[in-house]
Amino acid sequence: MRKFTGDTLLVATHNSGKLEEIASLLEPFGVKVVGAAEKGLAEPEETETSFVGNARIKAHAAAKATGLPALSDDSGIEVDALDGAPGVFTANWAETETGRDFIMAMGKTHDRLVESGIPQPWTARFCCTLVLAWPDGHDEVFPGTVEGRIVWPMRGHEGHGYDPIFQPDGYEQTFGEMDRWEKNRISHRADAFAKLVKGCFG
Ligand code: IMP
Repeated sequence: MRKFTGDTLLVATHNSGKLEEIASLLEPFGVKVVGAAEKGLAEPEETETSFVGNARIKAHAAAKATGLPALSDDSGIEVDALDGAPGVFTANWAETETGRDFIMAMGKTHDRLVESGIPQPWTARFCCTLVLAWPDGHDEVFPGTVEGRIVWPMRGHEGHGYDPIFQPDGYEQTFGEMDRWEKNRISHRADAFAKLVKGCFG
């Protein structure tokens, strides 16, 4: 496992929320975090069919373009009764001509489940894969998951994306009803970040 030894990390995202979250996580390690937008990087096309494939595309493109170690993440939800869909297409299911509509995407998920005829519980998991890539082409991969089930109707207004229809195992609340801190403690992203910190920043 290669350790991060520099002082600046490029975070291969144009999402300022993700950037802030990562910066605060790495603050204790004295790491300066720079975003893709700040470096004028374009967003590469995510052409792979796995989370790790797409995370690798983003991290390697950013590392090569800047000469800095680069961290990317790719995430989504896998529903077992839908053979793992929407998976890497989680964001695509929300696309409309006027932007992303997650109410529609959650409705589509529920419709497909009803059409499948498969009875509840509709087991599912959120996945997050982090990739730390270096300019010489080396990378380290950290997958994180949180297991749960799809519930209907939607519950809660916290969080984002598919949170209102995902109830994690061992909890009565959906991610949409859960306090942000609680979600961030048990989420797929927390799982992947714990592995990243242990592997490369410990
Ligand atoms: P990405 O930004 O290409 O990785 O797309 C991730 C997709 O998965 C987005 O559409 C998110 O809404 C969804 N997603 C990822 N993590 C979460 C989460 O914690 N809650 C709800 N939706 C999520």
